[in-house]
Amino acid sequence: MNAEEYKIYIDNVVRKVETARLKVSGHHIVKTVAISKYSTAADIAKLYNIGQRAFGENKVQDLKAKATELEELPLEWHFVGNLQKNKINNLLEINPTLFHALDSMELAEELQKKLEAKDMILDALLQINSAKEESKHGFMPEDASEAYARIQRECPNINLKGVMSIGAHSDDRDVIKKSFETTYEIYKNLDGATICSMGMSGDFELAIECGSNMVRLGSIMFNK
Ligand SMILES: *Cc1c(COP(=O)(O)O)cnc(C)c1O
Repeated sequence: MNAEEYKIYIDNVVRKVETARLKVSGHHIVKTVAISKYSTAADIAKLYNIGQRAFGENKVQDLKAKATELEELPLEWHFVGNLQKNKINNLLEINPTLFHALDSMELAEELQKKLEAKDMILDALLQINSAKEESKHGFMPEDASEAYARIQRECPNINLKGVMSIGAHSDDRDVIKKSFETTYEIYKNLDGATICSMGMSGDFELAIECGSNMVRLGSIMFNK
């Protein structure tokens, strides 16, 4: 695809997001984070040139490498992957816009210590394992609200802004939908939460219809 074709292709993806959000309401705004984990810095620059500003990675070392290489561009970096405790300092050095995957109380406590020592505040989302899958990280739906309140109470350097979830791994649309509804139900009852991050390339329209206001699009944005 040349630059012109790529722009038309992306316009079409944007239109799909628009169509889905308008089904919810004209006031329902959805932000797209382009997940660049399978893409190069050059690919990111191409997408930036047609208007995309927010990008996300799932490995700290990749985030660091790409953020450094593209330093001169005014990009917004999100971190969406599982964060190992020994990588916390490396992540904080990059000072990401939003950490989507706060997935355990131990991680929250460790993050709090490191943030306090550096006198930093990190915006974060509580990850919910809404379909209770063995292969996924995150809080169980029944524990999520209490964990959210506890982190708000005990971790003053973590600024919780909402929740993140990955749709159920299934071919059954109803099963995926149920997992999004579970997350949305928790989200809407949280005190002060404004971000509900759910929906990837294969299921973002459904996620938006279930209330998502932040989609994480990888393969579809980079046409991989
Ligand atoms: C890779 C990834 C995405 C994007 O996945 P696609 O299916 O390529 O859109 C979104 N969220 C997380 C947490 C990811 O790891």
